[in-house]
Amino acid sequence: MKKVIIVRYSEIHLKGKNRSFFEKALVENIKKALKDYSFNIQKIAGRIIVENYDLENEENIKQKIKNVFGVYSLSDAVEMQTNKEDIESYISNIKINNGTFKVEVNRADKKFPIKSTPYAALLGEIILNNNPNLKVKLKDAEHVVYVDIRENGKTYIFYNIVKGLNGMPVGTSAGGLLLLSGGIDSPVAGFQMAKRGMTLEALHFHSFPYTSEKAKQKVLKLAKILSEYVGNIKIHVVKFTKVQEEIHKHCDGDYMITLMRRIMMRVAEKIAVKNGLKAIVTGESLAQVASQTIESITVTNAVIENLPVLRPLIGFDKDEIMEIANKIKTYETSILPYEDCCTVFLPEHPIIKPRMQNVLKQESFLNIDELVDDCVNNEEIIETKNL
Ligand code: ATP
Ligand code: MG
Repeated sequence: MKKVIIVRYSEIHLKGKNRSFFEKALVENIKKALKDYSFNIQKIAGRIIVENYDLENEENIKQKIKNVFGVYSLSDAVEMQTNKEDIESYISNIKINNGTFKVEVNRADKKFPIKSTPYAALLGEIILNNNPNLKVKLKDAEHVVYVDIRENGKTYIFYNIVKGLNGMPVGTSAGGLLLLSGGIDSPVAGFQMAKRGMTLEALHFHSFPYTSEKAKQKVLKLAKILSEYVGNIKIHVVKFTKVQEEIHKHCDGDYMITLMRRIMMRVAEKIAVKNGLKAIVTGESLAQVASQTIESITVTNAVIENLPVLRPLIGFDKDEIMEIANKIKTYETSILPYEDCCTVFLPEHPIIKPRMQNVLKQESFLNIDELVDDCVNNEEIIETKNL
């Protein structure tokens, strides 16, 4: 008899022939998440079992596994060989002082001689005999004793089921380049895409000396928090100061945001392609600010030649985004008050519905190719694993 952690997954079941590819990815990602601990891991039919870890670390290990995308739920359990005597002897030692309870038996191993409902009743009797203050309650019982009789000849007994993040294992989809600002939205956008299996690199534009070193550190911290879910993130840090100064010098200030965003997108696509990434991800949400009207998005999107731009938050309200930011623990960092590069040179009356011909006219005052190449060629690379 020993303590183990049972990991369950759900959507992966649906993947037919690809199933083992997804299961392998999930096992690998759990291993990576637990790299600081010693343990063994094995795949059994329909479950993953983590075992032989130091019991002192059990809560931390559970927390790490909980953050791996693709995990539907987990439980710490006692594992024993499947035989009636051992199961019943263990059950007879259960002490629950008072309240309501039920036993739930899952008989995946159809060779086990008693069906699950009568066996649950039998085990319930044993518990009642030893805990006379308890009451059976089949719906909403305070205590549930789960008995999972698996096909591998082992039975798992546990008391709680912790929900995971669900989603697909990171790495089962091609990689994307996340445009990461220091705001609330973009880390959440990255989280949502990683949830669907996408690996991420990040691209951040900063405007030193208009923005401080602290603003950059904040973005690195956000990437570090995201890496808890995504794995190591390579961050491309690009100095955007010259672009902003050139726009400021040569163009109508009301077009600042539109022009900046079109250059950001061009830089993003070049960096993505150079790094083998297959999509660009932003934290845009429809109508949230001037640059996120359909007209603005159309004009910004038009500079992209080959890649899809994914905007997982496009239909989210700010409070829905904030709720996720809180859940994934990026919120507190996102609201630190350091300047974002987009707030430097902000016009008083930004164009909300830019017309393409006007934008092109403004761009004719700039040497776009040179500005873009300058950004791409002078990036600084930082990896979250080194932070
Ligand atoms: P966020 O909260 O993510 O900063 P926002 O509501 O402030 O978003 P915008 O400033 O219009 O919105 O930015 C929209 C998207 O553009 C961001 O979600 C992000 O993906 C990208 N972006 C904005 N500023 C930067 C930056 N300095 N570096 C990289 N990407 C950026
Ligand atoms: Mg922003």
